[in-house]
Amino acid sequence: MALIELKDVNKTYFGAQPLHVLKGINLDIERGEFVSIMGASGSGKSTLLNILGILDNYDTGEYRLDGKLIWNLTESQAADYRNRMIGFIFQSYNLIGFKTAVENVELPLFYQGIGRHKRHMMAMEYLEKMGLTAWAGHFPNEMSGGQKQRVAIARALVTHPDIILADEPTGALDSRTSVEIMDLLGRLNREDKMTIIVVTHESGVANAADKIIHISDGVIGSVEENRQHDSAHFGEGGIIK
Ligand code: ADP
Ligand code: MG
Repeated sequence: MALIELKDVNKTYFGAQPLHVLKGINLDIERGEFVSIMGASGSGKSTLLNILGILDNYDTGEYRLDGKLIWNLTESQAADYRNRMIGFIFQSYNLIGFKTAVENVELPLFYQGIGRHKRHMMAMEYLEKMGLTAWAGHFPNEMSGGQKQRVAIARALVTHPDIILADEPTGALDSRTSVEIMDLLGRLNREDKMTIIVVTHESGVANAADKIIHISDGVIGSVEENRQHDSAHFGEGGIIK
């Protein structure tokens, strides 16, 4: 059983003009995979990722997460799945500006009811893993884009999720920092066996993953096994912007 199974998933936005955005998506992602979903702007990537992250509903089809049918969940059930299973990373980091780095990383643990001391220790552990120990007491506006994204990655990881979902995680970063962030995600996949799904419109970013799933106009096209990189030389090709 795949960790993520989508069968014929459809989604329409009902605005002034109905927009059929996802048109029969079939997709299996196994535990431990590092996958990119690549497509042009407007192809439906964020819509798909939001469904995978139980941030949005689909209209027809089936989505199973770890075997459980994700359908008609209450908001509190959805939040419970998200908190237990999913870590999110966004292009704009989504850090809270009036909280320090370590407080940002502690936040999901606070929502899990973990006590002050323990959540501080756990948050510091993940900041250390991201090379940010010295930055723990700094506010987001004192940090570079790459540092902010590493804080966001620490926050995504601190609850030990099953999956990391990343929506254009390098979209606001320069190319060298983009390579560093994708390298970091690659290491989390290889060393910690994290399942990672990255959505991007950039082929250089998509190329960091082991598998590239192409999406075009709401339809999954080809799925490429990506053997261009190996673990020893990961990221050396650089990201083409
Ligand atoms: P991508 O992330 O690949 O750029 P999106 O999934 O964000 O694409 O959007 C796919 C299409 O759906 C676009 O045409 C976008 O304008 C439209 N869209 C996205 N979100 C909404 C929404 N909440 N309501 C109406 N249309 C939307
Ligand atoms: Mg998008």
